[in-house]
Amino acid sequence: AIRAEPPRIRRLEEAVVNRIAAGEVIQRPASAVKELVENSLDAAASSVSVVVKDGGLKLIQVSDNGHGIRYEDLSILCERHTTSKLSAFEDLQTIKSMGFRGEALASMTYVGHVTVTTITEGQLHGYRVSYRDGVMEHEPKPCAAVKGTQIMVENLFYNMIARRKTLQNSNDDYPKIVDLISRFAIHHTDVSFSCRKHGANRADVHTVIASSRLDSIRAVYGASVARDLMEIAVSDDNPARSIFKMEGLISNANYIAKKTTMILFINGRLVECTALKRAIEVVYAATLPKASKPFIYMSIDLPSEHVDVNMHPTKREVGLLNQESLIDTIQNAIESKLMNSNTTRIFQIQA
Ligand code: ADP
Ligand code: MG
Repeated sequence: AIRAEPPRIRRLEEAVVNRIAAGEVIQRPASAVKELVENSLDAAASSVSVVVKDGGLKLIQVSDNGHGIRYEDLSILCERHTTSKLSAFEDLQTIKSMGFRGEALASMTYVGHVTVTTITEGQLHGYRVSYRDGVMEHEPKPCAAVKGTQIMVENLFYNMIARRKTLQNSNDDYPKIVDLISRFAIHHTDVSFSCRKHGANRADVHTVIASSRLDSIRAVYGASVARDLMEIAVSDDNPARSIFKMEGLISNANYIAKKTTMILFINGRLVECTALKRAIEVVYAATLPKASKPFIYMSIDLPSEHVDVNMHPTKREVGLLNQESLIDTIQNAIESKLMNSNTTRIFQIQA
């Protein structure tokens, strides 16, 4: 056989590198919303509102009343790897903020048009500036602004034709965005959330500060869900073993649904954990007579050195030390809670 000449290896242009990476951080409109809302929460906002047009492809707008962004920082705000949250790699081990990669805003400017309006405490006016490909399109313009930051992302994936087409052909992301805001709203009862379609006068998610968790669940998922939930809490602070705390609300035997709803926060991060979800479904199937899937809200706190937050650019999952034993403990707790409530229910019916 004729040996082919090896092709030359070249260095990609920075703009190409950035756009490829951006497509991974911002996979779809809902991932942009998640990053923006997490930034608002990191900025200590007590109010976050989201407006979406065309499933997020035309417009995503997230407004908060957080601490705002300094004028001096606006020039590098949307550069890749610029962040106010992390300085040394070791900080990752104790990081409390949800962001740390300094990639989200940059990514959005590589796959969409980003406009930021922000004002910091004590300023008479705010600033507005638009970004493309990581850089400011013009000097920040003074403008009227209320407390906090508003970030607008327009024409997402305008330069990624395949991605845009795929998203246009599938169901739009609005339900996913509503679902996402619902989850945040239930966990952060000290923050008011709203989420609406552009031009709609009714919000699809709307919560107010200082309501109880059950109240927020009632507001977001409806009274019929809230009625069938019970509180669960486990804490294991035997210093010889790993310290962990879990609390949440789980559906009882009267709850009926075809699909599991699992709202999981680990160390304050909204994450997914398929292994835990399956394990809980198994307990429900084995314990309750009806073949109903559960509703689970669960917040787990672990020592930060047991949680690897840097698993993937989307931060959708975290790595857990001792995952199996953790799942075991949670399964047992849920099982005994269900057994108790189940016998109570039968007893009530018989009485
Ligand atoms: P990261 O959150 O990982 O730091 P981002 O690209 O999401 O990276 O944001 C970059 C920086 O911009 C943040 O570190 C923060 O300082 C600032 N920032 C972004 N959004 C907001 C906001 N809503 N309010 C205040 N500051 C913000
Ligand atoms: Mg961020």
